[in-house]
Amino acid sequence: MKCKFCSDKPVVHLKPSNLYLCENHFLERVEEVTKRAIKKFNMFDNKDRILVAVSGGKDSLSLLYLLNKLGYYTRGLYINLGIEEREYSDESFEYVKKFSEKFHMDIYTYNLKEEKGKGITDIMKHRKNYKACSVCGIVKRYIMNKIALEKNFNVLATGHNLDDEVSRLFGNIVFWQEGYLLHQNPVLEEEKNKLLKKVKPFCFISEKQTALYAYLRGIEYVRNECPYSIDAKTIFYKNILNRVEENSSGAKLRFYKGFLDIQKKYFKKVHKKYTEIMGEEKECKICGMPTLKEICGFCRIFERV
Ligand code: SF4
Ligand SMILES: [Zn+2]
Ligand SMILES: [Zn+2]
Repeated sequence: MKCKFCSDKPVVHLKPSNLYLCENHFLERVEEVTKRAIKKFNMFDNKDRILVAVSGGKDSLSLLYLLNKLGYYTRGLYINLGIEEREYSDESFEYVKKFSEKFHMDIYTYNLKEEKGKGITDIMKHRKNYKACSVCGIVKRYIMNKIALEKNFNVLATGHNLDDEVSRLFGNIVFWQEGYLLHQNPVLEEEKNKLLKKVKPFCFISEKQTALYAYLRGIEYVRNECPYSIDAKTIFYKNILNRVEENSSGAKLRFYKGFLDIQKKYFKKVHKKYTEIMGEEKECKICGMPTLKEICGFCRIFERV
């Protein structure tokens, strides 16, 4: 068996397109598909300053590596969330440090517990009714945006891959979360100069591919799952979708691309309805960030704990 494009031994078989690829051609393909997504969705160009949120995982570290390789102005940001169970945050940070040293890339760090007095583990001890991933999501989005504004970045990039996007889409459709479907896109434009543009350049790259990309590029990453991910529905959905993919190769990509194609039509119909229901955005009374309530989600969490 040979690579589709040269005589080297294949390292991967991409089933949906029935491609056997050697190491070099696989790496090239991941980079090409990412470049195409950046262009197709007008994510950013060489004039932009891109802050990449890194967690110590394969996706975000690979994304930072790749955007840097492509010549974009990028810098990583690691948020130490204070997940103390199984020393998860500390372990993740070790991988971020290793990456930074190995590839000579400086990475900003933000320590939630040091800055706000409480990490995710502390918050969860105080508020047993909270869902860890919801709290964590609000905190991450807020801090990423805040640091990017402070450091003069204008685009926020995250390592969400195809599997992440498809499982989220699946969950939103199963429960007809129209509001979330409205905003599920590889690009969310900047709002009111306060919420920066958010992009997902790996939206068409599968989880298996980002893992192989990281491995072949010599990127070491945290392999343990977050202790709170056991409760995350995403994993359950990913397992279902993996079975669908086994049965029908390319289904995930078709599902996602098909949704993006029809989303605009769908958008028009529900956009009006949702702006009427949700009302106008205001400024948070504590921090001044845009919010639909008097106090934003982030400030509410820390007010209550
Ligand atoms: S699994 Fe949930 S709690 Fe853990 S890092 Fe991800 S979003 Fe945060
Ligand atoms: Zn080849
Ligand atoms: Zn606030």
